[in-house]
Amino acid sequence: MAIREILRLGNPILFEKCEEIKDFNSTNTAETIRDLKDTLLNFKKKSGFGRGIAAPQIGILKKIIYIDYQAEKLSGPLINPVIVRESRERIQLWDDCFSFPDLMVKVERFKEIVVEFFNSSGEKISINAMGDLSELLQHEIDHLDGILSVQRAIGPKAFALRQEWAKFIQNIV
Ligand SMILES: [Zn+2]
Repeated sequence: MAIREILRLGNPILFEKCEEIKDFNSTNTAETIRDLKDTLLNFKKKSGFGRGIAAPQIGILKKIIYIDYQAEKLSGPLINPVIVRESRERIQLWDDCFSFPDLMVKVERFKEIVVEFFNSSGEKISINAMGDLSELLQHEIDHLDGILSVQRAIGPKAFALRQEWAKFIQNIV
């Protein structure tokens, strides 16, 4: 078990693009998956939020995200995930991120997407994601391209500190 440090906004690694995984069975890949899982579950326990993490957030520039979203019955690694279809309809929402846990950012996402990825056994899987899951996967896949939600902000007023957001915005939107 290895809980890794989560890189925070300002660390240039978060803006770098990740490489595809070619060897699904390597020890490196297995270790990255385990560390992502341990780090995600630890963060969730400490902060009370968090359903996904991307490898660059623990300093590994590989295309792996780890999702733990029980309500959608999705728990495990998504390797080399690609969005292959996007709905025309979009939604606006307030997003948060482990790499800047006190900052909320209002972004626009596709309402529905189809994502293809490989699981840890190297099997190709396709899922249709809507609503919260769609938004979560777009956030995590962005990380693999070096894109943070601050770059997706819909305007200059699309930022709020979490506590102020809870006070002034949460119940209105
Ligand atoms: Zn994030």
